[in-house]
Amino acid sequence: MKATINSSWQTALIQLDTVSKMMMLPDDIHQMLRNFDRILTVSLPVRMDDGFMRVFNGFRVQHNASRGPYKGGVRYHPELTLDDLMALAMEMTWKCSLAGVPFGGAKGGIICNPKTFSKDELERLTRRYTYAIMPIIGVEKDIPAPDVNTNEQIMAWMMDTYSINNGYCTPGIVTGKPLNIGGSLGRTDATGLGITFTIANAVKNTKMNLKGLKVAIQGYGNVGSAVGKFLSEMGCKIIAVSSSKGGVYNPKGLRHDILIKHYKENGSFEHFPHGESITNASLFELPCDVLVPAAMGNQITKENADKIKAKMIVEGANGPTTIEADHILTKRKIPVVPDILANAGGVIVSYFEWVQDVQCYFWCEHEVNTKLKDILDRTYREVYTLAQEKKSNMRAAAMNIAVKRVADAIQVRGLYP
Ligand code: NAD
Repeated sequence: MKATINSSWQTALIQLDTVSKMMMLPDDIHQMLRNFDRILTVSLPVRMDDGFMRVFNGFRVQHNASRGPYKGGVRYHPELTLDDLMALAMEMTWKCSLAGVPFGGAKGGIICNPKTFSKDELERLTRRYTYAIMPIIGVEKDIPAPDVNTNEQIMAWMMDTYSINNGYCTPGIVTGKPLNIGGSLGRTDATGLGITFTIANAVKNTKMNLKGLKVAIQGYGNVGSAVGKFLSEMGCKIIAVSSSKGGVYNPKGLRHDILIKHYKENGSFEHFPHGESITNASLFELPCDVLVPAAMGNQITKENADKIKAKMIVEGANGPTTIEADHILTKRKIPVVPDILANAGGVIVSYFEWVQDVQCYFWCEHEVNTKLKDILDRTYREVYTLAQEKKSNMRAAAMNIAVKRVADAIQVRGLYP
């Protein structure tokens, strides 16, 4: 019996190894890509409100900057591991490369449970973390952004701490900031809007129709709820949604405005009056056209991949499908639009935010969304065409394009010294 691959880092390496073999990547380049440019571990002493000091552990992982400065989110989570950050940093390298955004991959975070902190404690922790990673971040070096449990307020504190130590206001040091200090219009919903553009592109290549398309969404946070909103506006039918506490199903369709009101007021879909209560496990087994996992990683596994009845999966979350599940879905001919393509809207508009900050010239929302659509339409076409040519799945095609661009950059730059 084969061992289960349950580390996100193992999964990331297997994905790289597989595509490197397929594209006959030179061994030295392959080895460079399997390794990291830099991993910084920092200890963060913080005065808590009760007067005692606690020490937290933080990280910034920089994978590869051959195509441009490092870019990636900052995650605050009690179960954060360096393994996860390494996988996520590597994935950022591929995501930026695939979208043609001139950044490399990074990820950072602190092992902590921010839900137990006061606002002052959260601010002190964030400022200390920013100070600790200052030697390796910079507008042209490494640009952090929000991720799980971090938000635009945390980005504002990071930007302020960096600016004070730098001696002048430096908005381009982070993205995902509030609008009044250099944030971009369209950034909040960019990931969800991007997933919607990608679903529209994917549906064009099938017999399905956007009008009345039946969609199930796991996770109704920033990403999932924006997908629900935009797809509803396009005439799709949201038949099921969920949060960590379970979900709700109605084959006739659920209204986004009522769903989001209930979720905001109650923090879950329990007692939602317009549908049947379901578990997260049963959401995956519903007959639907498109399934959008938009919660956590490793949700589609060898245990449930056989039970999925969706005609297509579009990955909103990062790494929602395990390697084993990917094989099962490929065998079952259920197309999976991979995360590095489907959820790239967030990093693309982060890039737009950085460009606007650096130029001190800001765009209207229409311009942001139009440019986002152009990039995602082009990227989808490139991935789909290569997948058809190579008779591969879309993840392999997307990885092929992304890894090749990074490898080409490494080769043309050469080795120093
Ligand atoms: P979020 O915290 O706003 O929302 C997460 C949602 O998932 C919540 O509804 C939560 O209740 C639900 N959830 C959590 N655990 C669950 C579980 N075990 N089963 C079912 N539902 C569960 O987070 P988000 O920003 O929407 O991010 C969701 C995913 O998308 C993450 O994987 C993240 O890395 C990825 N992602 C986010 C962005 C972005 O711009 N926010 C960009 C790219 C990728």
